[in-house]
Amino acid sequence: MIYGNASVVELIDRAANGDRLCHAYLFYGEKGLGKKAIAAYFAKAILCGGKKRPCGVCPSCKKIEAGAHPDITCLSGTADKNELTVANVRKLKADAAVYPNDGDKKVYIISDCQKMQAPAANALLKLLEEPPEHLVILLTADDRGHVLPTILSRCIPVGIFPVGEDECARALEVLGGVSSEVSRKASAACGGNIGKGLALLAPECLPVSPDDFCLMLSKHQEYGMLASLNKLSNDKQVYRAFLEALFERFRDAAVLKSGGKRLLAGSKDAAAALIGSFTTKQLLEKIRVLSRAMKDLDANANVPVLSAWITSSLVGAPVKN
Ligand SMILES: [Zn+2]
Repeated sequence: MIYGNASVVELIDRAANGDRLCHAYLFYGEKGLGKKAIAAYFAKAILCGGKKRPCGVCPSCKKIEAGAHPDITCLSGTADKNELTVANVRKLKADAAVYPNDGDKKVYIISDCQKMQAPAANALLKLLEEPPEHLVILLTADDRGHVLPTILSRCIPVGIFPVGEDECARALEVLGGVSSEVSRKASAACGGNIGKGLALLAPECLPVSPDDFCLMLSKHQEYGMLASLNKLSNDKQVYRAFLEALFERFRDAAVLKSGGKRLLAGSKDAAAALIGSFTTKQLLEKIRVLSRAMKDLDANANVPVLSAWITSSLVGAPVKN
């Protein structure tokens, strides 16, 4: 299921259902827009044995859903276990020369291709220049401008864009398993980027745990708190989601401390650590700190400066204004 991006879905449907299928496509757009999911959908449509591709029920579609199709290879430009190294490109070239196992096509998906090291990118060029008839290469990149021009010029570029607010809310409701009220709120905050919306819905998906941050605060571990905020500082929407998650935990602690029971965040450990370390007055002060931090962030405050301010204000310095 692809949300929004109707022209992309149309391009995929036409290419996979008989119109001219090219040898290489580059799906580009910011992180969180679902480029890898779209490339995987395209691969499924290319290899599908059904009539309306992808049919979702043929043996090929089933194998792809199980992650066990012999004619799909996934590699990445990032330094992880699937990194596209020169050695891996050599293996790809050897593999590309062999006919597909199941059908008449092979698909290579190479994600984050803007991060490929130059030797690997140059090795890949040869394959892009002279691909065997049965090969389709699907590349993804967060930023088209950072892809080597020599790679870019050999691909059909396909832009992936944020979806409308209503469609985003529907997607978040289905994918995040949340109520329409919650999904609407997240949709309004994520600007149509479903991946970011899901991060807003699930603080446990954040790169730093809000609960751990609260525990660090209860132990006055100022350095750890600042380091955690710095880890989030290159993505403003994720940073804001983190502040919101912290706000909920402080609000829970203040509510519990004054005899209330209904938790917003549902994190008893974080609330207990905060209650054990701070008075109600201090908790309310810290809620004001977070509230002001979110306003400053929305007003385009400098994030590293804001992180330092949040840390020192939460740890103890009185809040100005
Ligand atoms: Zn199928």
